[in-house]
This record gives sequence, structure tokens and C-alpha cells, in this order.
Amino acid sequence: MKVYKFGGASVSTVDNILNVCGILKAEKEKVVVVISALGKTTNAIEEIIFEKELEIAVEKWDALCKKHKEMATALGADEHALVFLEEYQSEGREIIYNYNRNNGDEFYDQLISKGELMSTTIVVSKLIEMGLSSKWLDARKMFRSDERFRSANIQWRETESAIQEAVRRHSSTHNILVTQGFIASTRDGRTTTLGREGSDYSAAIISYCIDADNMTVWKDVDGVLTGDPRRFPNATLIPQLSYREAIEMTYYGAQVIHPKTIQPIQRKEIPLHVRSFVHKEATGTTIDSKGGQLYPPMIVVADHQYLLEFSSKDFSFIAERHLSMLFRKFNHYRIRVNMMRNTAISFIVCVTAERERLNYLKEEMSYDFDIKEREHLQLITVRHYNQSTIAFLKQGKEVLFEEKHGITYQMVVTDQ
Ligand code: ASP
Ligand code: MG
Repeated sequence: MKVYKFGGASVSTVDNILNVCGILKAEKEKVVVVISALGKTTNAIEEIIFEKELEIAVEKWDALCKKHKEMATALGADEHALVFLEEYQSEGREIIYNYNRNNGDEFYDQLISKGELMSTTIVVSKLIEMGLSSKWLDARKMFRSDERFRSANIQWRETESAIQEAVRRHSSTHNILVTQGFIASTRDGRTTTLGREGSDYSAAIISYCIDADNMTVWKDVDGVLTGDPRRFPNATLIPQLSYREAIEMTYYGAQVIHPKTIQPIQRKEIPLHVRSFVHKEATGTTIDSKGGQLYPPMIVVADHQYLLEFSSKDFSFIAERHLSMLFRKFNHYRIRVNMMRNTAISFIVCVTAERERLNYLKEEMSYDFDIKEREHLQLITVRHYNQSTIAFLKQGKEVLFEEKHGITYQMVVTDQ
């Protein structure tokens, strides 16, 4: 069997959903399909979650659900699908009104997950309407996780047997099995999510569990390019990539696939194709153990970076004691360290973090450290760098921090 993953952009409009259904109709083999929320739905639900005024939150929620129902109707959805959409809508209202908002991350997951539940309901109803033998599967019954809401960890053993069982059972009677990306559930049935853009990872988990022949991520770009084409219009396609190279690129922030995607499929040597749902004839990029031979310079830009400089208040040297204290707090506040350097009396880190969590950290650490911060920065990583690429990237930027190691070059620059 193979596994397909369709992201939000691929199902953002009625026409795009028809395009996805067309791809599935042309499919000869049995396939498990993982789908994200429609278009920018997840962002829209986040807005509702962070809305302070309950009434406004519910109004926005109803409007979002109405949009989903309209799309379903435009696609000719049957009564069943509309009943499910109504149900998700009233569950969502219930969550907004009654869920304990003090459990911030848990509350978030209960509502945000509705995006994927609604999108898959709509797509499956269209597939069935087209006469394709399709089955909707509830990811919450297959993906078991711990209770780390918003970035849950998969409990592999339970997940593996649940996925194998569900796929075995339903693939004997159906050709297309559709499930939600991004979402999972704790043992006691509370919904969790795997982190933003986590649907690629969901597809990789399924691929691993069912020993898929291959996995395809369908994108609005032609494959993995040497840089984000929106920033670098001259970026070119990389037809072959090794798992190792793909892991490195996604780790540094390449948005083409979620960083956790590669490891499970590498473990079982499952080839991963990254292809365009627009240019369906193009072969895109294949990521496997062979990979390419010589790579061109590949650029990854990560926005919203902070540079923090910690100096000890008592003028003591920055030593293991300070560092272990800082790293414990980074972990606690989910602050991700991307680059670091220590000098005798200071420790400099480039991090990705949520503003609020960063503030908590700074407040807590301010007893022991003087802390300087720069925000609105970019972290630019170049794999297989050469001097001309670096010179080009530095143009018009102020370089605050720079490092080379092996074939990797990194710099933190002002974002302009
Ligand atoms: N819908 C979720 C998000 O936008 C998951 C995903 O798209 O992969 O983050
Ligand atoms: Mg999405």
C-alpha cells in the first residue's frame, strides 16, 4: 500500500478538492490518505482560541463552520456529511463555552482538531459521491499519544497495532482510506495534536506502521527546491535527496516537510516523494537512502528568531551549572535552541519561541542573569555552501552571529 498526504493548500477551495479527488480517482493501488484542515482553517481556529470575548469566539466559530458546510454543499455532499459537520459545530461551541480555559494547551487541542475532522468529512463525502470505494477513519482511534498537548509524543506500540488493525480491516473492503493528519488522542480519550504542520508526520507514522511501499506529500510547489521559491525565485528543483540531507534541511526550518517526517520512514527505507498537486505530471523530488550525489547550495531561512545574551550577575564564569539551569528552563518553556556560543561571562543563543513563554523565562532568569534580547531576526542556514552564495545572502543585512561547521554555514541576521 502507499500513503498520500494532502496539506491545507491542496484542499483550500472547491476546485482544489475536486483536483485531489481526481488524483485519487486515477489511483490504481489501494491508498491511505492523510488530509490537513482546509486552507488556513487551523490559523482561523487559533484566532478563535485566543479570542478573549466568548461571544465573538462563538460567532467566528459559527462562521467558520458555515463556510465548511457551504463547501460541502457545493461539492454535493450527502445528508450524512452535513449531519457530521453540524455535530462538530455544536461540539466546538460546547468546547468554547465550557472547556476549562485554564488548561490552555488542552483546550487548544480540543478545538483545533475540529479542522481536520471537518475537512476529511467533506473530502470523503465527495469521494463516495464520485462512486469511489472510500472509508473515513478516525485518527483519534489510531494515534495514541502522551498528554503533552499541542506537541504530543506518539506512543508507538499502541499506535502501531491500532493503525495496522484499522488498515487491515478496512482495506479489504475499501480502496481509499482517509484519515486526519495532526491529531491523536490520550489513552483516556482526550484529543491531542502533534504540533503545527504535523500532518506530514502523521502520514510518516502510518507509512512506518503499515510498511508502506512509498509515501507522497502533495504540495503547491514542484518538490524540494534549493530555497523557498517565494524568497528565492531562482531556486531550482532537487530531484534526488538523501534522508540525511532532508533531515538536516527540515531541522533547520525548511518548510517543505515537517522535521519529524523523515525518521520513521528512513527506519524502514520507505521512499518519500514530494510532488506538486498543480503540475501532476512532474515527478518532483524523491527522498530515499540513495539520494543525490553532488548537491548545490541549499538555503533555509527561519523567521521570528530571537538572540538572547545571558551574563551572570555575580561576574562568575558561565559554566556547566548555569548552562544546565538555562537548558532546563528552555525545555520547560518549549524554547528551541538553534545556535549557541559561550564566552567567559556570557552565553549567547539564537532561539525559536513563543513570545509569552520567552517572557516567563526571562522573568525567572533575571535573578541570576543580565539578559539582552534582539528580536525580529532571521536564521539563515546554507548546506553545501560556497562563498558566492554567502556573499549574496549577506547583501543588505546586518550579521549578528555567524558559524561554519563542515558543509553547513549559519548566520543570524536582521530581518528586513
Ligand atoms: N492543519 C494543521 C496545521 O495547519 C496541521 C497540518 O496542516 O499539517 O498546522
Ligand atoms: Mg495546515
